[in-house]
Amino acid sequence: MTLRFKNLGSGSSGNATVIQARDGAQVSHLLVDCGLGIRELGKRLGAAGMLAEHVDAIFITHEHADHIGCVRQLALRERIPVYMSHGTHVAMGEPDFEGLLRVVCDGMVFSVGAIEVRPFTVPHDAREPLQLTCTDGATRLGVLTDLGRSSDHVLEQLAGCRTLLLECNHDPAMLEQGTYPWFLKRRIGGGWGHLANEASAAIAMALRASGLQQVVAAHLSEQNNRPDLARAALAPAMGCDAGDITVADGVAGCAWMDA
Ligand SMILES: [Zn+2]
Ligand SMILES: [Zn+2]
Repeated sequence: MTLRFKNLGSGSSGNATVIQARDGAQVSHLLVDCGLGIRELGKRLGAAGMLAEHVDAIFITHEHADHIGCVRQLALRERIPVYMSHGTHVAMGEPDFEGLLRVVCDGMVFSVGAIEVRPFTVPHDAREPLQLTCTDGATRLGVLTDLGRSSDHVLEQLAGCRTLLLECNHDPAMLEQGTYPWFLKRRIGGGWGHLANEASAAIAMALRASGLQQVVAAHLSEQNNRPDLARAALAPAMGCDAGDITVADGVAGCAWMDA
């Protein structure tokens, strides 16, 4: 059994991550978020060595445009089941998925081939946002982007993850001094917005006690953060060198990695 993942792009220009489990001859792929145009997503899946038809299921974390992108088009074209919360579906305007919609909620475990998925709620300014952990039975991978703050629930859900794809959205000083209008600064920096580097580091630090060994920084703001700042915040929390922290690029994402 191996559990691997590859981020295909991260942040406001569009989010998508493929999670792959291999169990003997059976290979399962879950696409987490779909925030790209269908041609661009096809190109990036191609760069990952995949075709759209290899995607067994899509999980949509919430309704923000950088996460939903071409989901309906892709799902209908390839007949792929789409998992999301009721609130996300309502907030999207209740699009018709022609029988492919699977409504899930916090704590509702489901399987995509050899991948077992457990969604959980996070504080974010969307209708019913979910993030998730995945396991192939051997290792557990957490995906945590788009939240304004940590919570006991978030930490409980992520306990036992060996690897975490973790939002490091902004550096507070860069956000403060940047060109965003004040209401946007307040939204991003608030408890229902996005994680500052220090808040992400605190989450990583808290999870080390339960076995976290690897973090990949994701959902960095292009204007309000830099990869070196995210690395500098996470490295001490993980007890490693800054150079050992992988940062998912906005467009190129990251290489395939073992979870
Ligand atoms: Zn986002
Ligand atoms: Zn969002």
